Amino acid sequence: MSKVLIIGAGGVGNVVVKKCATRPEIFSEIVLASRTLSKCEAIKNSVKSTLNKNIEIAKVDADNTSEVVALIKKHKPKLLINVALPYQDLTLMDACLETGIDYLDTANYEPPNEAKFSYSWQWAYQDRFKEKGLMALLGSGFDPGVTNVFTAYAAKNYFDEIHTLDILDCNGGDHGKAFATNFNPEINIREIMQRGRFYKDGDWCETDPLSIHQTFDFAEVGKKEMYLLFHEELESLVKNFPTLKKARFWMTFGQEYLTHLRVMKNIGMTRIDEVEYKGQKIIPLQFLKAVLPDPGSLAENYTGKTNIGTIIEGVKSGKKKKVYIYNICDHAKCYKEVQSQAISYTTGVPAMIGAAMVLTKKWQGAGVYNMEQLNPEPFMAELNQYGLPWKVIDNYNGVSLDT
Ligand code: NDP
Repeated sequence: MSKVLIIGAGGVGNVVVKKCATRPEIFSEIVLASRTLSKCEAIKNSVKSTLNKNIEIAKVDADNTSEVVALIKKHKPKLLINVALPYQDLTLMDACLETGIDYLDTANYEPPNEAKFSYSWQWAYQDRFKEKGLMALLGSGFDPGVTNVFTAYAAKNYFDEIHTLDILDCNGGDHGKAFATNFNPEINIREIMQRGRFYKDGDWCETDPLSIHQTFDFAEVGKKEMYLLFHEELESLVKNFPTLKKARFWMTFGQEYLTHLRVMKNIGMTRIDEVEYKGQKIIPLQFLKAVLPDPGSLAENYTGKTNIGTIIEGVKSGKKKKVYIYNICDHAKCYKEVQSQAISYTTGVPAMIGAAMVLTKKWQGAGVYNMEQLNPEPFMAELNQYGLPWKVIDNYNGVSLDT
């Protein structure tokens, strides 16, 4: 029985709160805190009306460590679940260290003034968490998160050595809007506009943004064009699986989405530096976020499915083989269950499961951990149990991907 503090009342926060509320034997009390109290209130009311459960709420600025420390001291949770933005990772880790509680997030740190995400900043906390006997679990969403666990599960159960990893993230859904992002628009657009990067024979190879693409036939979705991107789990997976010779990440995008993105970039709306506007400094991408649809608001009429998984090649008993593990998630079913779309759902459910792993001590350790460093079995079992069932195709014989 443990109290948890969830920070961030966005699309993902809504799912984490509701999934935790269905497991009172682990999450005995829930406190939801965020910058805008009305968003916490809306989730609290929804939890009451749909699950007949009470949660506590609070207003907090997660950029301010001492405010978070005061909140933790007031409520005395065992674990902090960070589903605010990557900008808050370090202040929240500092608050956990100061108050002696465990930490979990779903996205790695990036500095607000530079679109460059990396685990280096959070890995630098290793000794401090270790010395205090605390655990920081990094990237417990779907990708990163479940994709790391899929990789660890395949490596453990299907291979002697893994050599090639391809992570395939497909959203085959339709929200009916000309342009919208499925999670925080600022973070999402920063990620997609970066130069592409993949790992090959010990080096990182760079590509122009979205310049490498190919068609893939996704189960229950169909053929989609997927684009090579750099994604954060590649950084930890090549470190933790040193036998990997190649590691890539692919995400599907429609032409309409890419055209909008190109126009917004060309007219300067995706800039992250300050510009002067009517005597005030504004950041164009933050202004753009304010006028784009809230990802949570897409949920009601979203149709179609996501298909996210990993294709791994390697050797077993001296023979080459391939394994494909994936999950399919239906937007409309997510809405029915927790009033969310599938991207928030596929992030929020693994955050809840990661938290359950830590609180039940199925995952234990002092220090900073990526998901693939822990035993994949109990996490994989809970994915099946709590809404994200997966399939394994052993000896997968699909065509090899290009590049
Ligand atoms: P939203 O923008 O919907 O929600 C973020 C919430 O955090 C908002 O309620 C926001 O408050 C709050 N917040 C932002 N800054 C602060 C602050 N300084 N203090 C307190 N609260 C703050 O984002 P999502 O729910 O879509 O995404 C949440 C996280 O999940 C992001 O970090 C995202 O990168 C990650 N993610 C991870 C995925 C994975 O698979 N690993 C996939 C998708 C998302 P306000 O309402 O006031 O703006």
